[in-house]
Amino acid sequence: MSKFWSPIVHTLTPYVPGEQPKIQNLIKLNTNENPYGPSPKVIAALQAEAADSLRLYPDPDSSRLKAAIAGYHGLQVDQVFVGNGSDEVLAHVFQALLKHDKPLLFPDITYSFYPVYCGLYGIQYETVPLNAQFEIAIDDYLRPNGGIIFPNPNAPTGIPLPLADIERLLRANADSVVVIDEAYVDFGAASAVALVNQYPNLLVTHTYSKSRSLAGLRVGYAVGNRTLIEALIRVKDSFNSYPIDRFAEAGAIAAIQDEAYFQQTRRQVIASREQLVNDLQALRFEVLPSGANFIFARHPSYAGEQLAAGLREQAVIVRHFRKPARIADFLRITIGNEGQNQLFMQAIRSVLGV
Ligand SMILES: *Cc1c(COP(=O)(O)O)cnc(C)c1O
Repeated sequence: MSKFWSPIVHTLTPYVPGEQPKIQNLIKLNTNENPYGPSPKVIAALQAEAADSLRLYPDPDSSRLKAAIAGYHGLQVDQVFVGNGSDEVLAHVFQALLKHDKPLLFPDITYSFYPVYCGLYGIQYETVPLNAQFEIAIDDYLRPNGGIIFPNPNAPTGIPLPLADIERLLRANADSVVVIDEAYVDFGAASAVALVNQYPNLLVTHTYSKSRSLAGLRVGYAVGNRTLIEALIRVKDSFNSYPIDRFAEAGAIAAIQDEAYFQQTRRQVIASREQLVNDLQALRFEVLPSGANFIFARHPSYAGEQLAAGLREQAVIVRHFRKPARIADFLRITIGNEGQNQLFMQAIRSVLGV
């Protein structure tokens, strides 16, 4: 606290990211990073970028990257917005499209950055409880609102929502923007990108951090109607002209171009997830149906806190949320590579004493 702070700073409750411990030999399954490195073609592109040209500013419009993303999805360049990680894209989305007189709606259990942006930008919001199965129930969103946002698959539950439900929401909600945060879509949900030409109120965000193994590069994007994209560009150009540096643009383009590597690593993560679900169910864990690169699981006889602490003693880190109470017994476990998953299972068996 300081008298030098602007008043709003006293009111902020910042987001707390999963920890990035400096300890060696940790089995790190707490932040949904990809266990496989980026495509070798990305590394080569980054090396080529380490050149004299770094003295020059990057392209403020990231035109080559936008063209590559538009090409990948079969859209026009003016339907694409790029930013420094999808967190930055989302921040601009909240400010540019979701601040209205009526409250923004999002699930009570979801990505915990959403209420943080609302605090930063002074956006009124209401949370909508997940149903008893921890699913998003579309009917509960059919009421007056200043916008709607949720991830598909949802986080931290991992549960995917069918595209038909999203389409029903878009039809019933023509007067405000519906944002689908598809951070995990490549691991098992149908993408709403297929609907952006049909619905002017739909915006879809993606990240290169998860399925493209580039959390360290910081690239994310949004696609939607060009009017929505124009609002984002107006905010971005009032904030930072160069959010995508030369490395980020070159690396992300190379990642898009290596479709075979993307498919191979994505499928491997999905296969490992199915194996891990079976192994945990054999130990009596309840695992929510996941379409993501993580699972959300609880054990009938052990508190979540106790399991997380026991794993930590064996240098295995997973994510545990104390609040809300409804999810306090769950662990969110990122899918690792096969070796990491085996070590995780060894550790959990030892915590359970089986
Ligand atoms: C990881 C994540 C993001 C942010 O991704 P970055 O592109 O790394 O900023 C956004 N939304 C959800 C739901 C996420 O899990």
